[in-house]
Amino acid sequence: MKQVTYEGLTFEPYITQAEIAARVKELGKDIVRDCAGKTPLFVCVLNGAFPFASDLFRAVEDIDAEITFIRLKSYEGTSSAGSVKQVLGLHENLKGRTVIVVEDIVDTGNTIHRLIKDLEQQEPAEIKVATLLFKPEALVRPVKPDYVGFNIPTKFIIGYGLDLNEKARNLNDIYILKEE
Ligand code: IMP
Ligand code: MG
Repeated sequence: MKQVTYEGLTFEPYITQAEIAARVKELGKDIVRDCAGKTPLFVCVLNGAFPFASDLFRAVEDIDAEITFIRLKSYEGTSSAGSVKQVLGLHENLKGRTVIVVEDIVDTGNTIHRLIKDLEQQEPAEIKVATLLFKPEALVRPVKPDYVGFNIPTKFIIGYGLDLNEKARNLNDIYILKEE
């Protein structure tokens, strides 16, 4: 693995494809254990969570599960734009269901907090949050993800779905912004 450059910023290797794959398998086992006898609905938050959701969903093949997609946006460049907009809505009926929101990363928690409030309107039985990455020190909302791949420091990262202005989502490994 080597450094990569986007928009003049240099990123160094941080979490390998193999480490991600192993951790996603473990999270899948946790969900299978917790959701025995239920049919959870995975709600993948586009765009960033799609590689993680794809891998996580296939890591729960031992239970019945469904998947759907929602699109939100809160970030421009490398810092939070503050406001969270729902770009594309959800069409499934959530009443009485076990919902597992699948996020790429929880940073300030604004996005997931707003999304949970929206989803609660539909009276699901329970809402769980699975996030590949969690920046606990950046959190400003009272949210606690149920399934966390990796806790990371408050730094900007890219790859495996995470972008810098829509680029770098197709990197197989995760990279971290290099301190100059
Ligand atoms: P939050 O609302 O601050 O928790 O941010 C959530 C969203 O911001 C995520 O779904 C990502 O799209 C984006 N985000 C947060 N941190 C990063 C990062 O380090 N790299 C790329 N995107 C990020
Ligand atoms: Mg996102």
